[in-house]
Amino acid sequence: MIHPARVFREVIKHLFRKPATCAYPFEKAKIMPDFRGRIDFDSSKCIGCQMCVRACPSKAIEIPLSKVQPPAPAQIEGQPPVPAKKKFDCIMKLDHCVYCAQCVEVCPKKALIMTQDFELAHVDRKELRRHYT
Ligand code: SF4
Ligand code: SF4
Repeated sequence: MIHPARVFREVIKHLFRKPATCAYPFEKAKIMPDFRGRIDFDSSKCIGCQMCVRACPSKAIEIPLSKVQPPAPAQIEGQPPVPAKKKFDCIMKLDHCVYCAQCVEVCPKKALIMTQDFELAHVDRKELRRHYT
């Protein structure tokens, strides 16, 4: 049998301790530095190599050519024309992604960035398909 004095001591001890849980969503959540959240995309760095698409275990990422392509740079006299740099978009299916960061690690141009954004829940599944341009 547990002695009442021991129970009382425990109650008093826990009354003055910090709570083990946090009051999220009423308070801002504390995020660990290495937390892996939503992947962001920097189109200006992407070369369309598709390495991220091949590395993704969940088929959560697509890198299509952008509908609007930048114009070719003006030709310098006496020099061959320089072809325009192709522009790529990124389609990220947040409901397929497992946040493993393999795409971020394989990207040779650091065009994919892991953020700490974790508040991604949505009632409309279509909203979980992000199209970065
Ligand atoms: S974090 Fe993982 S699952 Fe998500 S898109 Fe990148 S490789 Fe795919
Ligand atoms: S790995 Fe990087 S550079 Fe290659 S297609 Fe993916 S985002 Fe673009």
